Amino acid sequence: MVIYPGSFDPFTLGHLDITGRAAKLFDRVLIAVANNAKKNALLTQDERISSIKAATQHLNNVEVVGIDGLLVTFAKQHGASAIIRGLRTSDDFSFESQLAGMNRAIDGSVETIFFSAQGKYTHISSSLVKEVAELKHDITPFVPPAVAKAMNKK
Ligand code: ADP
Repeated sequence: MVIYPGSFDPFTLGHLDITGRAAKLFDRVLIAVANNAKKNALLTQDERISSIKAATQHLNNVEVVGIDGLLVTFAKQHGASAIIRGLRTSDDFSFESQLAGMNRAIDGSVETIFFSAQGKYTHISSSLVKEVAELKHDITPFVPPAVAKAMNKK
């Protein structure tokens, strides 16, 4: 089993692509939705969890849960062998390699695996999708339909 953690505010087509690819490689994928109170969240943690569940219901081996504490502790508690993260740009690489290093320093038994983003999704980030939504422009090309529905309600 692997964990795919993130803020997912909102969960985009890029996140869905990584989830689907991980679901083919691993027996189970647990999407862990962070409760980032400090970040300027658009959707609540519950809204993110329910919209991600709806967006991934076609993937039988994917589950979605909330996470509040330390990621590596959560990973160990759930018997996960690894954490998955996605890479779009060299900026992602700088940040993600530092994050992986910190997680390794906390607990070296939980490995981080990187998936490189597909070219057609490299321009999609949650923060840009949020900006587009705040400017009242259509976000349906960037997020799964269930997520667009949750965002349009807000
Ligand atoms: P964070 O956990 O840093 O708040 P996000 O929730 O935005 O980040 O994303 C979770 C993970 O998915 C990160 O590893 C991020 O790099 C990756 N990711 C974000 N957008 C995409 C995309 N379009 N394609 C592939 N991976 C992505």
